[in-house]
Amino acid sequence: MLDVEMVHAVAPGRGPAGSDTSAAATAPAGSENTTMSLLELREVSRSYGEGSASVNALHEVSLSVDQGEMVAIMGPSGSGKSTLLTIAGTLEEPSRGQVLVGGHPVGAMSRAAKARLRRRTVGYVFQDFNLLPGLTAAENVALPLELDGTSARKGRVVALKSLDRLGLGGRASHYPDQLSGGERQRVAIARAMVGERKLLLADEPSGALDSANGEAVMQLLHDACKKTGMAAVVVTHDAHLASWADRVMFLRDGRVTDQAAPVRGPEPLLTPEADK
Ligand code: ADP
Repeated sequence: MLDVEMVHAVAPGRGPAGSDTSAAATAPAGSENTTMSLLELREVSRSYGEGSASVNALHEVSLSVDQGEMVAIMGPSGSGKSTLLTIAGTLEEPSRGQVLVGGHPVGAMSRAAKARLRRRTVGYVFQDFNLLPGLTAAENVALPLELDGTSARKGRVVALKSLDRLGLGGRASHYPDQLSGGERQRVAIARAMVGERKLLLADEPSGALDSANGEAVMQLLHDACKKTGMAAVVVTHDAHLASWADRVMFLRDGRVTDQAAPVRGPEPLLTPEADK
């Protein structure tokens, strides 16, 4: 069992070759010495089913993710990675233990407060992008804002800015089927970050991409954390991609087996052609 203090004690990571990703070196302006945990899991357990059919999907898992930090979760299929993300995203409740988002215990929140948290604070990125095919890139990105009451016009302005930031300014009016896989995933990331969300949860965001585009997505998430102070938890199967994170947490059978700063990865696979 790992407690929160132990997790904090793990050294900051280095990211792939040549990149200094220490939070202190790259914290967003004004955030010096004000590091706060955006996500804390305290001895979280989750079981499904009853009696002999019961499965312990998570067993006393503790994790603390600070502002500006990116944590990768690795582990074999069935080890509890998705359960951890859904609990961190308040989509499911733990059987035992506590979840805090932005310092607030989720267990004490009303349903309405949790829904607000999901609309405004937490962004989700999925392996298969989950873009709505009938909406353009800009409309997809603006959707969470509009659902939260922002006017269509203001939502579009914010969405265009967000797409621009991810190098997709020229693709705003394209429909998902007119975009490459890498571009679609970047639109999904723009949607997950829009409205200046504090916590991004990504389940195999590069799983449907080739290695260069997969790496571009991890680099993008890494840079977004460092620039905006957003915290990210990213599930990946790929050790090279995990090396973009500040820390890697390994799960097996619902338990944390190891927690480490990633080893220095090989040279990034990125080339200027990565998105083509
Ligand atoms: P991973 O994402 O690492 O593949 P999961 O979190 O999906 O692992 O699952 C962990 C364990 O919990 C698995 O044994 C899985 O079968 C079980 N599990 C997950 N969700 C449910 C559910 N809704 N009902 C029953 N068992 C579940």
